Amino acid sequence: MTKTDYYEILGISKNASEDEIKKAYRKLAIKYHPDKNPGDKDAENKFKEATEAYEILKDPQKRAQYDQFGHAAFQQAGGGFGGFSGFGGFDISDALRAFMNDFGGDSVFSDLFGWGGSRSRRTGGARGFRGNDLQIRLPLTLEEIATGTKKTLKVRRKDRCSKCGGTGSKSGKRNVCSKCNGSGRVRQVATSFFGQVIQESVCPVCHGEGYVVADVCSKCGGTGLESSDTTVSVEIPAGVSEGNYINVPGKGDAGKNEGPSGDLIVLIQETPHDFFKRHGIDLLCEIDISFSEAALGTSKTVATINGKVNLKIPTGTQTDKIFRLKGKGLPSLHGSKVGDQLIQVHVKTPEKLGKEAKELFERLAKIGI
Ligand SMILES: [Zn+2]
Ligand SMILES: [Zn+2]
Repeated sequence: MTKTDYYEILGISKNASEDEIKKAYRKLAIKYHPDKNPGDKDAENKFKEATEAYEILKDPQKRAQYDQFGHAAFQQAGGGFGGFSGFGGFDISDALRAFMNDFGGDSVFSDLFGWGGSRSRRTGGARGFRGNDLQIRLPLTLEEIATGTKKTLKVRRKDRCSKCGGTGSKSGKRNVCSKCNGSGRVRQVATSFFGQVIQESVCPVCHGEGYVVADVCSKCGGTGLESSDTTVSVEIPAGVSEGNYINVPGKGDAGKNEGPSGDLIVLIQETPHDFFKRHGIDLLCEIDISFSEAALGTSKTVATINGKVNLKIPTGTQTDKIFRLKGKGLPSLHGSKVGDQLIQVHVKTPEKLGKEAKELFERLAKIGI
């Protein structure tokens, strides 16, 4: 199989500049792209050929190899052709992928092929930037955690600019970035002690987007995004705990270039409780009882997470004894378990004794209590 010369395919001269190569390829891509020629095998072949030629000639190193050795430069087994499976194996999907890498952010193509909002999916997110995830802390009381709750959250997020619709431009126009020619990357040649070093980095002008807005929108300054306050409702299931989070898809910042919105991440925070300490699904609390209550037994009114109960203190209760109220704890987040409430009693020694109390204690002391 004889291969057509790459320069011939692109219709350019052997000493064409990088810019001329790109322009020539762009023209052919517009003409032969499969999206514009559905089912046309001939166009598909031409698109594939042109892309193959462009992928080699746009790269100064590969171009030099090609100039020296012709097609033979890339025909060794396994072919070291960046990312592709050998040279003969360059098929239409390789060509489309290569094309999207180079031109995915080019608004001319998206207008031409009507890619619009689906562009980011086609490029695998290369140019349609996903919006930031937002994090918001949500303090909850133990009472709310016990039952589950629904909250309406005020969220300040970035939304598409209402004036320019997210394009960042008054007229909606975008130009290919002149600094990086739309690649989103720039090469810098630095001369060091070791010789020349080529560094590739994100284009400082377009920040990797490959294009710049033409007439900057006065409202958003060209970012295409503006802050907006919105409310988001979230259902909080019963039994959540500190550090749990709830992901609300699509409620984060809007994406640039019609990219998808980020998520809103609601981080659960437990507000410390005056009376209860949480221990997993159990609730711990402490109450004081007097000497006589401990000795004689009594009934105490104790708060639970959902109302009050009477706790029976039996006669002869020792200090630090723990009573367990079954099922008065928190529900487990997963499953149907419910925790217990554990009540620790402290027998309080009276600190000051009145005359009568003192006499009584002295009588108790006499009989060995
Ligand atoms: Zn740029
Ligand atoms: Zn705007």
